[in-house]
Amino acid sequence: MPSEDMQRQVVSWVDDHRDSLIDFTCDLVATPSVNPPGDERAVADVVAARLKKLEIGEPEIVAKEPHRPNVLCRMKGADGGPVLCYNGHIDTKPVGDGAADDWETDPLTPTIIGDRLYGLGSTDMKSGVASLIYASAALRAVAPTLRGDLLLALTADEETGSGYGAIHLANDYGLKADIALIAEPSGVRRELEQICIASRGTFAFEVRVRGTQMHSSISDQFPSVNASVKMAEILARMQHELVVRHDPHPLYPGGVTRNVGVMVNGGVWYGVYPGEASFACDIRILPGMTPADAQRDVEAFVDGLRAADPDLDVEIVSAIHRAESMTMVQPEVPADDPFVRILQDASATVTGEPIPLGGFAGGTDAIFLHGYGGIPTIPAFGPGLLPLAHGANEYVGLESIVQACKIHALAALAYLE
Ligand SMILES: [Zn+2]
Repeated sequence: MPSEDMQRQVVSWVDDHRDSLIDFTCDLVATPSVNPPGDERAVADVVAARLKKLEIGEPEIVAKEPHRPNVLCRMKGADGGPVLCYNGHIDTKPVGDGAADDWETDPLTPTIIGDRLYGLGSTDMKSGVASLIYASAALRAVAPTLRGDLLLALTADEETGSGYGAIHLANDYGLKADIALIAEPSGVRRELEQICIASRGTFAFEVRVRGTQMHSSISDQFPSVNASVKMAEILARMQHELVVRHDPHPLYPGGVTRNVGVMVNGGVWYGVYPGEASFACDIRILPGMTPADAQRDVEAFVDGLRAADPDLDVEIVSAIHRAESMTMVQPEVPADDPFVRILQDASATVTGEPIPLGGFAGGTDAIFLHGYGGIPTIPAFGPGLLPLAHGANEYVGLESIVQACKIHALAALAYLE
């Protein structure tokens, strides 16, 4: 347990550097890193320059391709202490299609209105990255000789699958740590609402149905199957009847989320009786499950349809999964893990009461850091609001950046001391 005096020094360092922290968040927002197409060189330069300026350590660029850099920076402790990895992604989603016109400010121009910072990536998650960097700087200034290592891993390519980012670091580079935290926005209804110790995964798949392609004027004269109609029937039945089995999970009282028909496709033009049609689904699975678990239930459901209709020509195609990720268990850090306790204590010091534990609705790089790297990972605890991510008028509350930074700093101090 760090002394109260040292905790006070950390908190006042962050208060003293509040303007610099906010300005740096603005710098990150002002440096585009939209993915796709994906090019993090400019933002990685901004990050590396700040790491040097704050004397946190010598940044190391790790890149599978030169235009997809990850920035690592290790604050070395005395030998033998634990390694804490603070992770955040430096790419953002694109401005968007329909949403582009809905922005009331220029998405790439950081704009402070009242106590909010507007701009693309402000919530997801350039404010989180800034918080982790300034938390590290606070530690460097106040407690330069810690027992353990603080390893900053600021990664590319989270928004399109992490192949150049977390997967590359965990698989090829050999990233190692005793525990990791990702500063993704963990608020849903209000900022810093919960410390997400678990996250959900996805089983994404397509249902392809084949029919009888022919001239539509004679479909009543020959035996024929309209692939679009069959597809629609299966879609409707799946919506009402598909059950994905799972054990109850205390952090996810709602269980799995079934999204049937997130995309639909069928037919080519008038006059052509549809020969093929398909729809896509994503099932959000729980910690402890694997995509393969959900796949088994979907296959069994479709087998039931085939048994009732022997002419039915249908197949399930697993859409986006790397083969090995089908059997990856969705990660969760136990509520009684020492670092989780430390985070809650730090949150109480900063906000007056411990921030409750929760489950992140979606997925984060935790699946890869845990699945490939074997690193227990807190999937999301950072400033910002998840519902604002990937949409127009994304913003982050200025105060939540400062509070997150203090909590990140105090937690690292207590864990590494
Ligand atoms: Zn994110």
